[in-house]
Amino acid sequence: MSICNNQSLNENLLKEAKENLLYITERPSIVMEKGKGMYLWDTEGKSYLDFIGGWAVTALGHCPEVIIEALERQGKELINPSPAFYNKPMIEFARLLTSNSCFDKVFFTSTGAEANESAIKLARKYGSKFLKGAYEIITTVNGFHGRTLATMSATGKAHWKEIYEPKVSGFKHVPLNDIEALHEAITESTCAIMLEPIQGEGGVNEASAEYILELRKVCDSKDILLIFDEVQTGLGRTGKLFAYEHYGIEPDIMTLAKGIGGGYPLSAMLTKDKYNIFEAGDQGGTYCGNPLGMAVGMAVVEEIIKKDLTSNAQVQGEYILKKLNEIQTKFLIKNIRGKGLLIAFDLPMEKGKEVVDKCLKAGVLINSPKPSTIRLIPPLIVTKEDIDNMFDILEKVLEEI
Ligand SMILES: *Cc1c(COP(=O)(O)O)cnc(C)c1O
Repeated sequence: MSICNNQSLNENLLKEAKENLLYITERPSIVMEKGKGMYLWDTEGKSYLDFIGGWAVTALGHCPEVIIEALERQGKELINPSPAFYNKPMIEFARLLTSNSCFDKVFFTSTGAEANESAIKLARKYGSKFLKGAYEIITTVNGFHGRTLATMSATGKAHWKEIYEPKVSGFKHVPLNDIEALHEAITESTCAIMLEPIQGEGGVNEASAEYILELRKVCDSKDILLIFDEVQTGLGRTGKLFAYEHYGIEPDIMTLAKGIGGGYPLSAMLTKDKYNIFEAGDQGGTYCGNPLGMAVGMAVVEEIIKKDLTSNAQVQGEYILKKLNEIQTKFLIKNIRGKGLLIAFDLPMEKGKEVVDKCLKAGVLINSPKPSTIRLIPPLIVTKEDIDNMFDILEKVLEEI
């Protein structure tokens, strides 16, 4: 097919997209069609080196063989017998997660927001049963926990304060790493503290070790729950299988999503035996623990462990940081930060969108969570060569800007 035909085909697709899809956000004028490993291809056959990784989701890269194999194998066997029954993949996958973490019990869901909703419900259940009805959850300014009404209320994004009122009540936001503000926020009504060990959408802001140790201490002394939202940091992303391992403490609840399905919608809430307190009917969902999702998640997590992609995240993350430090003075970039393959830096001007657009044109996908911040969240399979290729483009773009 000639390029000309391809182009008009693409224009038609974009026209139809505008006609039939509900508007939710600006999207570039391309249509993605294929993916393999570190690359995506659009309908015009142009390739993109992917340092967004489906939004920190495609841990194994695009369309990995193990996911294709799991979908095919489990799809032929059993897709969903209903959540009212146990199924084999559900039992096996739960065991894989408990045997590789500090947790004893798993509840499966489909999205990060849903896993966090479960964590919120479990904390409120504990509060109502054991803490005289305490229901309030302390979260952080700039934190991100999802887009359902409750998780939006838990989220500490300034722009979200005004929309979809009234919000779900019972959330208090404190600045990250401010121990004094935290102590002031805790009252008789507090049942839990919930945070991301590294704020992802908020621009890659790390909780300090001192802060996390203090959180653990406070939660122990008041018998309130410490909830780690590891939707973005979990499953090898930060150079440890779970980010809590960096601090030498154990949270009471951890939520996982994004990387756990490698692109397939899957999430989980993990907790300890002590919090196995839901009563029949308190929590559930049509897709919770469906065999198809379980088979995919199992394949992804087994591959992360077998190939030791956690160590690769650590090694390649350090290489990215080294390269950023080398170009720091030349391009006046600041605040290079992050752990493993969750990395960000700030531009001297609010030109994040321009950098992202120019990189896209040049065939590289990166992300700008804030006007002056660039974030890099590539698949855990990224190689030194991919990083060098990305930097070739990024440096050219930074030079132009
Ligand atoms: C992406 C994200 C969520 C929301 O996950 P969804 O699957 O989009 O619902 C929640 N918490 C954190 C830390 C995230 O990065």
